[in-house]
Amino acid sequence: MSHDTTIDPNQTVLVTGATGYVAGWLVKNLLDAGLTVHAAVRDPDNSDKVAHLLALADSAPGTLKLFKADLLDAGSYSEAMAGCTVVFHTASPFILTFDDAQKDLIEPARQGTLNVLDSVNKTDSVKRVVLTSSCAAIYGDNIDLQTSGKKALDETDWNTTSSLTHQPYSYSKTLAEKAAWETVEQQSRWDLVTINPSLVLGPGINPRSTSASLGMFKQFASGKLKAGVPAFYIAAVDVREVADAHVTAAFKPEARGRYILSGHDTSFIEFADILRNQFGNDYGFPQRILPKPLVWLVGPLADKSMTRAMVSRNVGHPIRFDHTKSEQELGIHYRPLKDSIADFFNQLQDSGQIPKAKH
Ligand code: NAP
Repeated sequence: MSHDTTIDPNQTVLVTGATGYVAGWLVKNLLDAGLTVHAAVRDPDNSDKVAHLLALADSAPGTLKLFKADLLDAGSYSEAMAGCTVVFHTASPFILTFDDAQKDLIEPARQGTLNVLDSVNKTDSVKRVVLTSSCAAIYGDNIDLQTSGKKALDETDWNTTSSLTHQPYSYSKTLAEKAAWETVEQQSRWDLVTINPSLVLGPGINPRSTSASLGMFKQFASGKLKAGVPAFYIAAVDVREVADAHVTAAFKPEARGRYILSGHDTSFIEFADILRNQFGNDYGFPQRILPKPLVWLVGPLADKSMTRAMVSRNVGHPIRFDHTKSEQELGIHYRPLKDSIADFFNQLQDSGQIPKAKH
């Protein structure tokens, strides 16, 4: 970890969704600090999902215990939570394709969070919950920045524009975070800190994670975007900074409220330029921006999530986040974007998920 936080290793903590991309680095940091980590996963017998966690525990001073739990089963996390001082609630579906937004996104996100917090209310040892929220709970569409009249969005902003039918992933994260703040206010034994990352990039502890972050980068290497990309502006952060922020948020007593974790305001075309500079032309990285009217017309035919409303409210509209609070209060130092992208792409190559360049 890149900063000092005093951690008493004689404590036990829970990580929900421990198999996840973001959770991998978090579990590593916690085990490296000597803690006992209760890792709640959907299927402890699935070695593709848990082998990397067991390997981490073999070479770290901490101790790992796997527990079976599902966000949709009431009371599912109680056993894993027993004796824990901190609960890291990272589990939530981060998927771009789904059949039923209510069932596949909203229920596990919101109901799952309430389920975990219900167990927190019944577990006296828990003093703090660190919730993995998202910048998706800060804004819904890029045009929201313009509407706000601000130069950059910050922790006081909330997503008010997403719904079940428009940006449902963002809606799921907003409902989940709101439910958490409403729950914490009803008692005083435990407190809540949220980490709100923008798009997370960088190498995973499990190189074969199923997070949508990896899917997005694999697209850039597929040659399918060769004709060009829409003028999508996006913000991004390295997965290692996100994990560090969770740990400091848990163990620094003064940490409070929401923390935007976002290193860089960038764009799809900047991703492509960085990739081409580092990995050459063989992959067919996009070289130009597609005209917005074309994207508006054809986008919905190519991708179900790219509705006309989504294109209108996002394409061509910059987005900017103020990450000052994370730097000042959590001591986060954001690494250069090109380093995160290079490390990420190298890992996708090394693990055989994208071909090596020919030259
Ligand atoms: P991920 O690798 O897909 O992790 C999601 C985790 O949630 C997995 O461990 C998954 O378990 C678990 N999960 C999903 N549905 C569940 C259910 N019904 N019951 C129990 N566990 C369930 O994605 P990630 O990128 O690491 O995302 C982790 C967190 O970060 C999420 O809360 C996400 O919203 C947030 N986030 C991610 C990004 C990003 O760009 N990646 C940005 C901002 C916020 P299985 O392994 O069993 O599927």
